Amino acid sequence: MEFEIIAKDALGRICRIETRHGRIETPAVLPVINPNIPFIPPEKMSDFGAQALITNAYIIYRSFRKEALEKGIHKVLGVDLPVMTDSGSYQLMLYGDVEVSNREIVEFQQKIGSDFIVPLDIPTPPDADLETAKKDLEITIAREREAKELKGDSKLVLPIQGSTHAELRRESAKRAKEVGGDVYAIGAVVPLMDAYRFKDLAKIILEVRSVLSVEPIHLFGCGHPMVFALAVAMGCDLFDSAAYALYAKDDRYLTVYGTKKLSELQYFPCSCPNCSKMEPEEVRELEKNDREIFLAEHNLYVTFSEIRIIKNAIKENSLFELVEKRIRAHPNLLSAWRQIRDYQMLFERSDPKIKKKFLYCGVETLLRPAVKRHVEAVKCIDYDKETIVISTDFGILADIYLRPVFGPVPIELLESYPAGHAEIPEPEFIEKEALEVAVENLRDFMSSMKGKKFVIHVSGRWKEFFKNLPGECEYVLH
Ligand SMILES: [Zn+2]
Repeated sequence: MEFEIIAKDALGRICRIETRHGRIETPAVLPVINPNIPFIPPEKMSDFGAQALITNAYIIYRSFRKEALEKGIHKVLGVDLPVMTDSGSYQLMLYGDVEVSNREIVEFQQKIGSDFIVPLDIPTPPDADLETAKKDLEITIAREREAKELKGDSKLVLPIQGSTHAELRRESAKRAKEVGGDVYAIGAVVPLMDAYRFKDLAKIILEVRSVLSVEPIHLFGCGHPMVFALAVAMGCDLFDSAAYALYAKDDRYLTVYGTKKLSELQYFPCSCPNCSKMEPEEVRELEKNDREIFLAEHNLYVTFSEIRIIKNAIKENSLFELVEKRIRAHPNLLSAWRQIRDYQMLFERSDPKIKKKFLYCGVETLLRPAVKRHVEAVKCIDYDKETIVISTDFGILADIYLRPVFGPVPIELLESYPAGHAEIPEPEFIEKEALEVAVENLRDFMSSMKGKKFVIHVSGRWKEFFKNLPGECEYVLH
């Protein structure tokens, strides 16, 4: 199998991609190697956890063409890891033009033995007008078709463009799928990352994942660990990081909660080998080059550590919990994630139905597919008695108990996932939305039980939330 999914959670997966230079297990980050200035030696990258590298075919074409054609890209970099080569479209975005054709750069990538080839797509920036984005997309698709003919036995990465136009991103994904690639790469999102426009970024990911339900997805140019958990949970498998070096050159220090300036740090909030042996004050006194290497190495450690944390979460089906914690790093991440309420079917199809645990982490927990599924499962239970007894208090004998988040939990489901396994704060200490949703779900359930009578025992804070329930109800207030 060249591509195999071995574990899933939310829209995230652990996949195996086989290449001529070994296996990549996703989610994976490919450090960007600048062949002109190999900041951290490429052969050292696997010490941090890298399973593959990405470098720029356009720079190699301009500066090391002869050497690369003679020796191959792996010997030039001095590694035996899988290598992806980008085509120069980043330079196209920066400078508006490159001195190479799509055919030339694709053939070049194939000849130097790149494991993953990228055509010279047109990276349409965010907020481009629709006409420009459409015109660019036609060129990108034509170049993808051409690359398909020239790729040889390398794997083909097909960029997905379309600026911030959701429908164009979908069209780009659909047409790339028709061309047929091995990996699909969401492109031209760096300006969104730089401006913390995570909502737009997330929307693009979800739109693309709506079209490409199984295929490996690479999020081009996104190397900040603060977005990895969210992006993986929305379906991204591969990332690349130039950030580890770019931030280091600017004396910036990556964390999963955001970026810190070295000048602001009193202590290092990290236990990587570098941060364990030095204090920020000492690092500030290093020569610029040593300081950059110190920071770049830390940035790589934290990058790969976060990937391992995410993989663990996928394996133990706690990715929702991890994302709900991570998005608290920035309000724009909260807004980005809350858009999953518009993609319920997408999550419903992919998210595993049975998990071991359900931990409440905040109001976003209400958006998990498990909550919706619970309500549907409860409606399928048959009650042959005429009067159903419901209670908010476990001390009272009842047919159904009311829990925050889920709403009605029949005694038959009190020991099973999700409602029976859920760790939730008491009604007195939870956000009011968790009680509102519970009562809404109760109303939904009662409407589905035609002709039944209900006796409802209501206690404590629940009393504020009981209004206008359907059917014949008798309230007993405690
Ligand atoms: Zn560190």
